[in-house]
Amino acid sequence: MGDEEPDAVDFCETPTSMQGLRSCLRCGLIKNFNQFYEHGCENCPFLELPERQDRVERCTTSDFEGMFSMMKPEDSWVARWEGLTSFYPGIYALRIFGVLPDEVDAMLQDLQLTARATKLPEDQGLEQQQQQQQQLLQEGGATDDEEEAPAAAAEEEEQQNE
Ligand SMILES: [Zn+2]
Repeated sequence: MGDEEPDAVDFCETPTSMQGLRSCLRCGLIKNFNQFYEHGCENCPFLELPERQDRVERCTTSDFEGMFSMMKPEDSWVARWEGLTSFYPGIYALRIFGVLPDEVDAMLQDLQLTARATKLPEDQGLEQQQQQQQQLLQEGGATDDEEEAPAAAAEEEEQQNE
């Protein structure tokens, strides 16, 4: 039945190699860079990835966590949990980190679609915390040294001069 349309797909490509894996920022499909470059993302034809290296670089990422294969989206609890039931069977990332280009983001909104990728909020928070802690340490350490050390050094010099 589905064979009537020449472009119809039943399955997404699966990665041909474990190296250079990337995940689609919109749907989380995992493939190799070259596969995205040659055939695009089966779930997201509107991203227009084929033959466009810059698009593939900006709409897919190597920054993802976890991997699972989805064979029967309509029966899979993972697929339902992750909201993937409308995607084709394939290999997917659990979490994808990155931001789609503004123009792509606007296009998704027009199509009333959402992207699965998130911006790494936890790690950004951690970085800020570490920076704040470092600042506190530096401030605390600096005042101690400046108040005591120069005074002691000056006293020593005076004694030597006498
Ligand atoms: Zn996709």
